[in-house]
Amino acid sequence: MNETLKRIAVLTSGGDSPGMNAAVRAVVRSSMFYGLECFVVYQGYQGLIDGNFEKFTARSVNNIINKGGTILRSARSLEFRTPEGRKKAFANLQNNQIDALVVIGGDGSFTGAMIFQEEFKFPVIGIPGTIDNDIFGTQYTLGYDTAINTVVEVIDKIRDTASSHNRLFFVEVMGRDAGHIALNSGIGAGAEEILIPEENRGLEQLLESLKNSEKSGKSSSIVVVAEGDKTGKNVFELASYVEQNLPYYEVRVSVLGHMQRGGAPSCFDRVLASRMGVHAVESLKSGKSNVMVGVMNDQMQLTPLEKAIKGKSEINQNLLRVTDILSI
Ligand code: ATP
Repeated sequence: MNETLKRIAVLTSGGDSPGMNAAVRAVVRSSMFYGLECFVVYQGYQGLIDGNFEKFTARSVNNIINKGGTILRSARSLEFRTPEGRKKAFANLQNNQIDALVVIGGDGSFTGAMIFQEEFKFPVIGIPGTIDNDIFGTQYTLGYDTAINTVVEVIDKIRDTASSHNRLFFVEVMGRDAGHIALNSGIGAGAEEILIPEENRGLEQLLESLKNSEKSGKSSSIVVVAEGDKTGKNVFELASYVEQNLPYYEVRVSVLGHMQRGGAPSCFDRVLASRMGVHAVESLKSGKSNVMVGVMNDQMQLTPLEKAIKGKSEINQNLLRVTDILSI
């Protein structure tokens, strides 16, 4: 037990994701529940450096569980990457008599948290908030479920217009290094092909599959492409490559972009955020630090930040097989 723990601070950092607010609410309210004080820090690590703190109560987080983005705002802080910046951050935490910090963010934010913890022996705990689902030590990150539901909804609409005109659509979704969004939303939306960074099956296979789709009498085809796919062509180049090789296709491209990050969190993300927030505070109370809260097989678990940052979150290979079977 950490008997000296009296005051916790919480911040959101890096890219925003739906569910961050629900996690802030959970950290604030579980702090109150356990008789701790809770401060929020605005604008991520930059707010730590600038002393942008506010004391919250249980009522400060009314009606935020349903809101997308982050009410604490986020920032990419260059200053926090420097020892001088981190010294200022530490001084501000000390001045506000804060004993531990909860960081809601992605692997960059966790790298900052780990370095900070090592330099000042300051207790930190991470909550994975990123739509990419690319963090080792948790089956789900906050915002991922909302994002794939957003993508499926949009692809459903694209499908309506695609089938009315007998078109082939390439839909680019987020995922520079990880194909979770593409793979799961692609299956959910009944995509004919899914291109992800983890597996490059080559352009010949893509053409073959699209030829088969045409032969089998499909009225539309959708190819979901993760930003970081390894075909060596961007989504527009892919579209013209297919048009050149399969001239009977009328090809269109849709790049979904930032809309994938926005919107109200799904029920799944709200529940996940609530569980992670409670578990983060309880873990700090029991003396844990330098770890990330995650969920595995529906059980909360802690992973050292270093492992969470360096480990690789693997895609489920079985999902690729499912796509192949179902896209005949
Ligand atoms: P996302 O996955 O959405 O990009 P992220 O948490 O990985 O989220 P980053 O911009 O990589 O986002 O990191 C957020 C912040 O964490 C940075 O702006 C910086 O302040 C801090 N940070 C990242 N890497 C380091 C580092 N090596 N040293 C110190 N601070 C860092």
